[in-house]
This record gives sequence, structure tokens and C-alpha cells, in this order.
Amino acid sequence: MSDSRYVIPPPPQATIAVAETDKVFPVRRIWCVGRNYIEHIREMGQDERAPPFFFAKPADAIVPDGGTVPYPSLTKDMHHEVELVVALKSGGRKIPVDKANDCIFGYAVGIDLTRRDLQIASRDVKRPWEVGKAFDASAPCGPLMPATKIGHPTKGKIILKVNGQVRQDGDLNQMIWNIRETISKLSEMVALEAGDIIMTGTPSGVAATVAGDKIECEVEGIGKLSVTIGPSLK
Ligand code: MN
Repeated sequence: MSDSRYVIPPPPQATIAVAETDKVFPVRRIWCVGRNYIEHIREMGQDERAPPFFFAKPADAIVPDGGTVPYPSLTKDMHHEVELVVALKSGGRKIPVDKANDCIFGYAVGIDLTRRDLQIASRDVKRPWEVGKAFDASAPCGPLMPATKIGHPTKGKIILKVNGQVRQDGDLNQMIWNIRETISKLSEMVALEAGDIIMTGTPSGVAATVAGDKIECEVEGIGKLSVTIGPSLK
């Protein structure tokens, strides 16, 4: 795969493990849905009637199952947001809702880690959210379960525990935009492609996590994810 036109070595391809195999899924883009569960909108004090929306993280923010997330710089309030992750095997523009499932390779459980203090500060001065959302190691993601094995789940418990204590406990059936609607909406904004993943929003119970925490997540029938929060990088 050497290509002499590159003036530096090309960066490594970000990947997510495929469950129960030695295969990996190559990640192109990470899209995230904001405010897709009503109880989370309530706990954040936001408008319940406003539709969900999208933001993004870099592909190399993925942290694998069993990994360690260094506590990030600049924040004193990093929050966990457990989310269902959808991985696409194909894409397109203006994908109709009834064709959206055809684009799905599989599903996993992930965490949209958030520097909440920085997100809120940037929101308040109408600046972009990257400083709060798109930092290094901000997208832990467990192994992908192929849709060929489990179909396309529309309900099931989504849970996050910190040091054994349940913090988030929701159900996929509480989403405002379901998976098919999310894919269709996003494809109005950009051309989706194979390798894109979507973090589909978090249920209520978001809270701060600190160095030393062990975070365990599960989506019923889809998979698990466990990560440790490490000390800050020097
Ligand atoms: Mn989120």
C-alpha cells in the first residue's frame, strides 16, 4: 500500500472491531445526534419541541473496548453519554426512510464523551462545539454486531454504569428520531458513505466522570463496552 506521492506516511486508518471475529470496520466519519431523547433534553434544560441536530467527531477519536481514555485537557467536567452506534456499509444522498436500513452494516454501544463545561461555554457565546465534543479519545466504541446477525433493533435497554453504579438507564424506543429517520435526515445534509458511523444520542443520566473511573455500558442484544478513565496526559 505504499504510494510515493505521499510526502508523509498516511495516518493510520481508524477501525472498530467486529464482534466474534478477527475483522475490523474502517471508520470514515463520526456523526453524532444531539438531543434525541426527551429526558436528556429536560435534564439539559433545552427546548423539548426543537428537533434533534447533528455534530461530528474525528474518526481517530475512537477508543476500543477495554481501552483507557486519558482525562482530557482544559476541562473540569467531562461527562459520559452512552449511545447506540450505527455503522454504515453504504450511503448516498437523500436516502429515503424506507431504504435507510439497507445502508447499515451493524450496531455497537459507544460513549459520546463531552467536556461539558467547554461545550456550554462555547454554546453560550455561539461558537462551535468542537472544543467540547471533538477531542482526542472522545469516542469509545465497543465491537460491532452485524445486522446480518441481529437484524435492526428498535427497542432494548441502554445502560451505563460507573464503578458498578447505574448512571444511565434508557431504552432505544425512547429516541425522538429513530435510526432510519436519522440516516435519512443526515443524508439531506451530507453524502453518507460506507465507513461512516452515527452516534444516535444519549438517554438521561449524563454526569461527570473522573480519573480512575471504570465505565461499563451495554445495549441489550447488541453488545458491551468497558473503558477506564486514566490520569491526564502530562
Ligand atoms: Mn451525545
